[in-house]
Amino acid sequence: MGSREEISAILARLDRSGGDDACWPLGQFRYGRLVVRNHGRATVKIGGRSMLAYRVVWEAFNGQRIPKGLVICHSCDNPACCNPRHLHPDTHRNNSIEMVNRGRHDNGAALRRRQKLDER
Ligand SMILES: [Zn+2]
Repeated sequence: MGSREEISAILARLDRSGGDDACWPLGQFRYGRLVVRNHGRATVKIGGRSMLAYRVVWEAFNGQRIPKGLVICHSCDNPACCNPRHLHPDTHRNNSIEMVNRGRHDNGAALRRRQKLDER
């Protein structure tokens, strides 16, 4: 985890305008701290390391590190989302099964559509 200032800067940039149950994408940083978009996922620099924004947000809201060996999954299927209500830790294996079940696997068109929305 990075410094408290870095994390609060990220939390302050969450777009919560849709309300508690909506997806919370991360807004742009004025000074470019939000570095790249990786398959629609926002990456932020924390303590000099690139981290996935939703992982940082999950840890900040839950006050703990992501359990070892687990990944953070989106119940909303929106990789840009950082709403902790839509995030839950799970095993990588379960996440892959979930993806296949929802038809996200090998679904290039849907993925591109999502990326386009995200880049707006
Ligand atoms: Zn969401």
